[in-house]
Amino acid sequence: MDQILFLAHTQENGLLPASALEALTAALALKSASGASELVVGLVGASVQAAADQVAGCGAARFLGVAGAEFSVARYATDAMAAEAICKASAASIVVAPGSSRWHRVLPGVAQRLGGVADTHLTGLNPSGAGGALTVARWYYRQRMEAVIQRQRRPWFLLIDPGSQLAYVGAVGTATVELLPVQPGAAQLRTAFKGYRELSSGVQTIRPEAKLLFVAGAGWTKKQADGQPHVKEAETLILSFLQTSRASLGSSKSLVDLGGEGQAVLSFLTHLNQIGQTGSTPRHPKGLSTCCHGEEPHAVGWRFINERRAINLDANCGWARGKADVLYVADAFAVMNRVNELLAAK
Ligand SMILES: Cc1cc2nc3c(=O)[nH]c(=O)nc-3n(C[C@H](O)[C@H](O)[C@H](O)COP(=O)(O)OP(=O)(O)OC[C@H]3O[C@@H](n4cnc5c(N)ncnc54)[C@H](O)[C@@H]3O)c2cc1C
Repeated sequence: MDQILFLAHTQENGLLPASALEALTAALALKSASGASELVVGLVGASVQAAADQVAGCGAARFLGVAGAEFSVARYATDAMAAEAICKASAASIVVAPGSSRWHRVLPGVAQRLGGVADTHLTGLNPSGAGGALTVARWYYRQRMEAVIQRQRRPWFLLIDPGSQLAYVGAVGTATVELLPVQPGAAQLRTAFKGYRELSSGVQTIRPEAKLLFVAGAGWTKKQADGQPHVKEAETLILSFLQTSRASLGSSKSLVDLGGEGQAVLSFLTHLNQIGQTGSTPRHPKGLSTCCHGEEPHAVGWRFINERRAINLDANCGWARGKADVLYVADAFAVMNRVNELLAAK
């Protein structure tokens, strides 16, 4: 029988991010469905007590931790040491972890050190898949094909894609953490963490945990009814909406490409905002598309957006053809202006 370890790192405030709580849901479901006798929680960070207390009620048999200033930031050598020590101490055969950028860089290497194997971007775990054994699922080819994977090798590291599970909710308590003595040497510390660099646009607009994805299309920069483009007004409307709604900003390819063509563009957009076949496929409960035509290479990136609405002047745009739940045939400038007024009045 597999021994399950839930392995997470803390965020700056010492707590677990939503992606870790989602991975914990997956680990707990796996434990109860597979009949594993116990779940071990492993935590890495500057201090791990607050994070352990946050999930104290999850029913874990043990809480293992590696803590200290050296483990407060992402660094391959120290993170790998910490993860390796926790995996060994827990004797885990299955390691469930959030698919954070920090773990993505490190855990496949830890799997290699331990003679195991890692799978990333997982969206589902099935404890009784083919032949009654554990299978895991992930998407390939821009979310068009789903693969179901089974492996004999252990330890098996499973990195869960953020947004694919419900976050664990449980009472805060007081956990007893067994701190492991992990001492990085000069060789592990030679890489120094200097700080975070902001996106070149200077505005943080991508918010993976937002309830709403707001997509801006090229229409925002096109000539409007008066024969003129209104790019500055578009910027103000969009930024004001993002500030009050805390939505995440997506874009069509046409709009982000305009920058490279020397045209007037929304200054805070980069290619990282692009949604679609050659962009990203984010996960949000709701999406609102504005001034975007809804063509297939764009709409394919909406695969995991549950409730979809669009605003377009064209009643025959792509959204009208089964790609949105609701299409407002209207001027997005007028609609967003009114929406911002209503939000400001709240
Ligand atoms: C191989 C390949 C890969 C691609 N990958 C991607 C991808 O990853 N992502 C992506 O987005 N595209 C991708 N594309 C391009 C895609 O096919 C479209 O060209 C692109 O999405 C169009 O962007 P758009 O809808 O913003 O612009 P447009 O097609 O120019 O549409 C602008 C829309 O704005 C509307 N509009 C204008 N003014 C207003 C107003 N005031 N109020 C309301 N509506 C208004 C217009 O009616 C129009 O529908 C790809 C294409 C190919 C061939």
